[in-house]
Amino acid sequence: MKPGQVECKNIVLAYGATQVLKGITLTVKPGEFFALLGPSGSGKSTLLRLIAGFNFAQSGQLTVDGSDITQTPPWQRNIGMVFQNYALWPHMTVERNVAFGLEERKTSRAEIAMRVKDVLALVGLTDFAQRRPNQLSGGQQQRVALARTLAIEPKVLLLDEPLSNLDAKLRVQMRQELKSLQRRLGITTIFVTHDQEEALTTCDRIAVMDQGVIQQIGTPMELYDSPVNRFVANFVGTINFIEGDVEHTPTGSTFLSDLLGKIALPAITPDRATTRAALALRPHTINIIAEPSSPTGASRGSINVPGNILEREFLGEFVRYRINANGTELIVDQLHQVGSEIHATGTNVILEIPPKALRLIW
Ligand code: ADP
Repeated sequence: MKPGQVECKNIVLAYGATQVLKGITLTVKPGEFFALLGPSGSGKSTLLRLIAGFNFAQSGQLTVDGSDITQTPPWQRNIGMVFQNYALWPHMTVERNVAFGLEERKTSRAEIAMRVKDVLALVGLTDFAQRRPNQLSGGQQQRVALARTLAIEPKVLLLDEPLSNLDAKLRVQMRQELKSLQRRLGITTIFVTHDQEEALTTCDRIAVMDQGVIQQIGTPMELYDSPVNRFVANFVGTINFIEGDVEHTPTGSTFLSDLLGKIALPAITPDRATTRAALALRPHTINIIAEPSSPTGASRGSINVPGNILEREFLGEFVRYRINANGTELIVDQLHQVGSEIHATGTNVILEIPPKALRLIW
């Protein structure tokens, strides 16, 4: 039964006059750990619930392994969902909670006993089978919810913000457990989160959503290194935008900004109706090299601009500076090592910007 390829084709869903999903098209490959990432209200849960069968599209098509399930009720879909609040039965033991879905499906008693034992072992809860949910930690409750869903052997596993009820440390531990479990089972998994770090660290690919529209689909590295628009650039990681104008000339394109002056762009720069654009630049790619009186790094091919430190935050691994560079505010992260220099607020510095770190965003 392995595969489990999920395809959404132009899915539109509205509540009354408000369109919440505005033509969603995506393919989740068999065995993939796939995230729906976006801010609150972007439509992630609505899409997940639609895949589960708890709400239905006005138009478009949903298929699993090529079978159209657009109109199929949830109990006939063979898709398992773990809810944000776990939805465990408080009066039942762990074992009964896990068996419940199987009993509903009229599975034989022997088969139920075997599967419950297997999934509890899988999530490391064998010794907790006789406890009730209120005798378990948050992380353990989450594992029961997962075990209960896995017991029905779904083709596709849906997780709605499964880690959001856990404290920060446990969240990190559970996301690693989740990933290794997903890898062992090879089950197609769709994970909803608003936490970019969670999506980047656990998932094979991510669909970034905003206002009911998929903005970009890619691997964590693709989204981080090559965001297609300002929304993705801003939502996945921290970024600076240097505003300016693209100019096309017979010999190639240039970018003209107050901060950087005129710089050449790659020849493939598309010709667009508007010329207004920005160069996006990650904070850690900028280097604070020195005070203006010191020798500069211009020989290394970087663009050097003067700046003044407005604010600094010590974050342990790095220091985050807010810098005024000729009227443009930039965030600059500098790796911190024992004994390394920390620039004081008000200091004048030179910023070294490597041209290859600049990415044109319209
Ligand atoms: P997310 O999961 O990204 O936070 P949701 O899918 O929960 O977003 O919601 C998307 C939008 O749909 C929100 O504006 C929300 O208010 C609206 N919405 C969600 N459920 C309903 C509903 N049952 N009736 C009306 N509007 C809804």
